[in-house]
Amino acid sequence: MSKQFDLVVIGAGPGGYIAAIRAAQLGMQVACIDAWSNAAGGAAPGGTCTNVGCIPSKALLQSSEHFDHATHHFAEHGISTGSVKMDVAKMIERKDGVVKQNNDGILYLFKKNKVSFFHGKGSFVKAVEGGYEIKVEGKAEETLVGKQVVVATGSSARALPGIEFDEVNVLSNDGALRIGAVPKRLGVIGSGVIGLEMGSVWRRLGAEVTILEGMPTFMPAADQSVAKEAQKVFTKQGLKIELGVKIGEIKTAKKGRNTEVSIAYSNAKGEEQLLTVDKLIVSIGRVPNTNGLNPDAVGLQLDERGAIVVDADCKTNLPGVWAVGDVVRGPMLAHKAEEEGVAVAERIAGQHGHVNFNTIPWVIYTSPEIAWVGKTEQQLKADGIEYKAGQFPFLANGRARALGDTTGFVKFLADAKTDEILGVHIIGPMASELISEAVVAMEFRASAEDIARICHAHPSLSEATKEAALAVDKRTLNF
Ligand code: FAD
Repeated sequence: MSKQFDLVVIGAGPGGYIAAIRAAQLGMQVACIDAWSNAAGGAAPGGTCTNVGCIPSKALLQSSEHFDHATHHFAEHGISTGSVKMDVAKMIERKDGVVKQNNDGILYLFKKNKVSFFHGKGSFVKAVEGGYEIKVEGKAEETLVGKQVVVATGSSARALPGIEFDEVNVLSNDGALRIGAVPKRLGVIGSGVIGLEMGSVWRRLGAEVTILEGMPTFMPAADQSVAKEAQKVFTKQGLKIELGVKIGEIKTAKKGRNTEVSIAYSNAKGEEQLLTVDKLIVSIGRVPNTNGLNPDAVGLQLDERGAIVVDADCKTNLPGVWAVGDVVRGPMLAHKAEEEGVAVAERIAGQHGHVNFNTIPWVIYTSPEIAWVGKTEQQLKADGIEYKAGQFPFLANGRARALGDTTGFVKFLADAKTDEILGVHIIGPMASELISEAVVAMEFRASAEDIARICHAHPSLSEATKEAALAVDKRTLNF
């Protein structure tokens, strides 16, 4: 006998579990299916984000930042510690504990909102009268029928052709988050968010980190003044970053008790190079997870990348089937997946859910943090939009000086005629938190002058935001 639901959600990452909860809040009978298992074989909802993405990476970034502070910055504050040691196993155990708290939190939220959770792989069987039949293959097999279906099956790390992830020496994000001891030499292919964050963790703990990037420009998606500052700071910290490389053959070979990875590549000048490392992280992008879904059974349309084709409202080509998050177009970010999940649940309930793609913030949790929303200066130039720019350095911010963290700046870009904020770019302490003010301002279509006229607490890092807004009109007060 099949179990009937108003909505079946496949995938319990941030897109899926949030869609399930919002739909339940709106009065629907909801099932959510997720295949992720923890080491003990139990359910581990939360997807990539909770298990091998946002949450564990931030746990390790925090631990490694504490270590960096203890070894490099405590002395400035008059704190002497003697020799500081890093227990990597303990750090990984703590990270696993943080992940488990989040897995358990989602199971609790499902219970609280009366979402029926099924642990296993979900796939389409067929379209039936008034809905779709979905098979769940887990410890027990179940058949569910959903009047509506949301696919939120996420994405997986893309491997380089010819070299698979063994998660011991050649690592995806999964293996990168559970390296058992600090590698002496770490290679990272790809200088995107994941490569930079993972490279930072292991660099702070003492690894010699080399990042190889195929693009000729560092962080091409970021505002180039931020990217230049970031490259300068990361290089000073000891990250070796090579741009414009072409990766050749990658080989693993035993050397004594260890295994080494050698990466042949040509550098930007076309010279042949060989990098030998103990561990290699490959972070060259992610592929949508549609393999296990059996999309052909119902005629669900995929594009050439294997992503589910959706319109602006996340509707697929099938009536009553929606898709959200990493498995569809758009930025692969947890908060974008969540916003789409909420909007789809509200649309199914007859409401007018919306996602504003122009105000999705981007954050890189390196030190200094990098965050932005809206257009970059290079995009405005390319689009022929006239703009004014204002910038304020953390060096001139009292709170940043007190924190001992004065790297970076806040930069505002505003329309030359209307003064409407078009983009805000931050590199510096707590950029991930500071960017929210800019997101709110842009959602309300504020002008730079609006922010400049708002009272900001003193001393706070947010005063740098106010000052950057003042800088648009060339009237900073503290610089
Ligand atoms: P996912 O989180 O991938 O979840 C999909 C779920 O569906 C998984 O549990 C999967 O097992 C399950 N599934 C797949 N197929 C099936 C099936 N057939 N049946 C049942 N279940 C299935 N984003 C940020 O916004 N901020 C960050 O700081 C950040 N850091 C990151 C760090 C790393 C190292 C990585 C890898 C990613 C990071 N991301 C970050 C990206 C973020 O994790 C993703 O954008 C987000 O998880 C996408 O959510 P989702 O719900 O679409 O998919």
